[in-house]
Amino acid sequence: MGKTILILGGGTGGVVAANVLAKVLPKGYRVAVVDRLESHVFLAALPLVIVGMRKPQEITRSLKGIEAPNVQFIQAEVQHFHADDKTVQTDQGILSYDSLIVALGAQPEGTSTFSRVFNPYDLQDAARLHEELTTFSEGHIVIFISNTPFPGTIAPYEIALLVDSFFRHRRLRKTVEISFITPETRLLEFATPRSSERLRALMRQRNLHVMTGRKVQSLSVGRTLTLDDGDIPGDLFIGVPPHTGPAPFRDTMMTDTSGWLKVDPHTLATCFPDVYAIGDATGIQSNEGMWIPKVGFFAHYQAEVVARNLALQYAGKEPRFRFVGGALGASMLSGSNRGCFVAVKAYASPARMTLSSPSRMAFWSKVFFEKYWLKSWFRYPH
Ligand SMILES: Cc1cc2nc3c(=O)[nH]c(=O)nc-3n(C[C@H](O)[C@H](O)[C@H](O)COP(=O)(O)OP(=O)(O)OC[C@H]3O[C@@H](n4cnc5c(N)ncnc54)[C@H](O)[C@@H]3O)c2cc1C
Repeated sequence: MGKTILILGGGTGGVVAANVLAKVLPKGYRVAVVDRLESHVFLAALPLVIVGMRKPQEITRSLKGIEAPNVQFIQAEVQHFHADDKTVQTDQGILSYDSLIVALGAQPEGTSTFSRVFNPYDLQDAARLHEELTTFSEGHIVIFISNTPFPGTIAPYEIALLVDSFFRHRRLRKTVEISFITPETRLLEFATPRSSERLRALMRQRNLHVMTGRKVQSLSVGRTLTLDDGDIPGDLFIGVPPHTGPAPFRDTMMTDTSGWLKVDPHTLATCFPDVYAIGDATGIQSNEGMWIPKVGFFAHYQAEVVARNLALQYAGKEPRFRFVGGALGASMLSGSNRGCFVAVKAYASPARMTLSSPSRMAFWSKVFFEKYWLKSWFRYPH
């Protein structure tokens, strides 16, 4: 009898895993994808929602669109994991698996502490933020990252540069001050010092006040952001909340003290038999002990590795695919028509991440990738 592969999470990793498995699994095998949301959000385009270059519905797709004769979507909240009887408890009932792929992403924490802050990683907040920006004409905008590691790696920088661009186009930049605060010791910490300096020069040129190595503690009602070493007054706050690994796995042996899921860096296998974890939920370190970037490219490649290896295993063959920690051709938008190419070799010694100078090509390559993504993995548009 065919086996059941359960995928938890219909984000980047889950959607790729389901699509690949639909094609490569032997006949009679089935895939079930569970997500609390009805729709998938293409997160890499969220920064464009903030500056009004995309509408929320343009970057979302119904998860029903990944269904196929051997793939089913179940909308449910994942609550607990039971390794002993190979089941997962959800708010819609218990689901059994033969193989499990955990792709639940990074979970935002402590959002109530920053309830007066726009979370740029949330679709509704991104849309509300856009409305706020359209009426904002003078004052201080403070963009900050709460903690490391955070998903998206380049995303907060992209947001800062796009917000700058937004006000330049509206000829309001002289009256709008923008500050960028990060706990990273230098900009884009995983990048080479040269690329980090390139980004700092770009942000300096755009008149963004950058503060590195600073940790945000709280935001007062009086609109002052308290850092570990002083206060920053502001009029509008955009903050990436602290993130950690998925709650349903927090009390299991899969999660270490960091809160992230432990996996084999090449096969993505966990300490439990037939359980794999991919994407932002995992905590993988480079040879130098740094967290490797939490980027969609990695979630995508890891999903391919796990899905193809499962198909080989079920066909009685030796799994041979390995995640090698590399990505080429990603881009970070630096304005409304320019971007910088990003390349990562996370498992090299030393690990490398580089950023090119801004070009139109990098902007358009990201736009084409978005179109490819939204068209390739979903059977119907909404
Ligand atoms: C604003 C932004 C911009 C980004 N830009 C880029 C970029 O340009 N390039 C790039 O490579 N990467 C980018 N990233 C990072 C990229 O989006 C992530 O690395 C990628 O989405 C991770 O995929 P994932 O499958 O691990 O998790 P996710 O895509 O986050 O998916 C997790 C899924 O699990 C579901 N879920 C979570 N908990 C539960 C639960 N308990 N029960 C049921 N469902 C649950 C969620 O609803 C979600 O659908 C960006 C991220 C953000 C936030």
